[in-house]
Amino acid sequence: MDKNEPNQLSLLTGPLSLADEKLAILAAIIATSDDAIISKTLEGIITSWNPAAERMFGYSEAEALGRHISLIIPPDRLSEEELIISSIARGIKVDHFETVRMAKNGHQFPISVTISPITNRSGKVVGASKIVRDITIYQKASEKQGMLAAIVDSSDDTILSKTLDGIITSWNKAAEKMFGYSEQEIIGQHISIIIPQERLQEENFLIGEVSKGNKVDHFHTVRQAKDGRQVPISLTVSPIVDDTGKIIGASKIARDITEQLNIEKEKARLFKQVKELNDKKDEFIGLASHELKTPLTSISGYLQLLSTMITDEKAQRFVSKTRLQVKKLSALVSDLLDVSKMEAGKLRFAVERFDIRQVLVDVIELFSYGNNHYQITLETDLAELRINGDPNRIEQVINNLLTNAIRYSPGTNQIIIYLIREVDNVKVGIRDFGVGIASEKLEDIFSRFYRVDEANPNISGLGIGLYLSHEIVTRHNGKIWVESEPGVGSTFWFTLPLGG
Ligand code: ADP
Repeated sequence: MDKNEPNQLSLLTGPLSLADEKLAILAAIIATSDDAIISKTLEGIITSWNPAAERMFGYSEAEALGRHISLIIPPDRLSEEELIISSIARGIKVDHFETVRMAKNGHQFPISVTISPITNRSGKVVGASKIVRDITIYQKASEKQGMLAAIVDSSDDTILSKTLDGIITSWNKAAEKMFGYSEQEIIGQHISIIIPQERLQEENFLIGEVSKGNKVDHFHTVRQAKDGRQVPISLTVSPIVDDTGKIIGASKIARDITEQLNIEKEKARLFKQVKELNDKKDEFIGLASHELKTPLTSISGYLQLLSTMITDEKAQRFVSKTRLQVKKLSALVSDLLDVSKMEAGKLRFAVERFDIRQVLVDVIELFSYGNNHYQITLETDLAELRINGDPNRIEQVINNLLTNAIRYSPGTNQIIIYLIREVDNVKVGIRDFGVGIASEKLEDIFSRFYRVDEANPNISGLGIGLYLSHEIVTRHNGKIWVESEPGVGSTFWFTLPLGG
């Protein structure tokens, strides 16, 4: 309607009277209210139904008028209506009555309703007006608040809040238990009541952080209980903000870490003990292998001498068998010596430039001589590959891997060695077709003294060959790993940098 056009109502009826104007204002208020406003007769027949009622209950005005109010009352609450009507009939208003009503689609929701009697000109009560507010969100908010309060109360951690000036504003049950102050005693007190004298500075730091909007997580410190007891705690402090986003205080969650500290202390003690025992064991291995080496060297020398003096063939065979066993024993002793040197950081490398292909060829030749039923082949396109490293130590690695390849492949007769040149590395692979290794053991086999005993009960060893190989390769800045499948075989790979 054009603003300048005369008001249609006033055209028909002439200018509005004051009473009419008041009525029109009331009608506009009812039409635009967010609360449902409904009127009904004392018999419960609905006589008016505003747009908010339409939205809240889902019935249009036309649908609702003339119907009984029980339309929106859940069946189990119908008796409420009798109570309400009886108080209205006596002219008594019902204020902020909280109950549940039902929409057209059956949805039930909490409401707060105020019901007032409607009287006629002679003052007789002829009906009731209802102002209904959907309080779902308030109820949810208060439910949430209740839930949070219950969580805070039942928490095993101390939860407290304080103002930015350090005045304690809340204090849960766990706080009472941890510090011995009751809620009544401590609310309104300054937080320094639980801070040991020498730690008062911490509070400045914590408040400083919180004032900047920062959270302080798991701050380990000590607080003081009412009886003077010092409680080690892990503290998390967060800012509390008001509706406008302003920081108005801090919440603190404190966990007693006495137990945790004790466990840590015990762990450190055990760790130290294990280390001491380990050091002793290493020292012993070092000493023992050193002591064993000297007589072994003499035995070896005398046996060699003896073999030149013996002419009897049988005796000669025995001597040579003995020499072989002495050689094995010497290899074991020198591996043990290497382990103890390695642990003490005393294993030295004599680095030079050498041809790794030649080392492989020499080792294969030596092995083929001693294990002539194995066919050991070298697969490579390279005629020579010079790298930087300690040739004796690298030879020791190849020896270890090849010895294992033979020991752990009984009943087979083939071993393949790969020599591959990569961009910056050389890659060597030693492949057997033996017992293989279960995948869950792969991670451990390079550890010191680790053996997969149950898989190979008949093959003895000390579990140090792969450990030494791993140390030698990694200290040459290379890598060592294995690909293996039980019953199919294993390929041990290692890489070494080519160097300058
Ligand atoms: P040792 O052979 O003396 O036990 P190693 O350190 O050389 O010690 O090897 C550790 C373990 O790894 C061995 O006990 C064995 O179970 C497993 N292993 C090593 N090489 C192979 C292989 N080629 N095939 C299968 N298992 C292997």
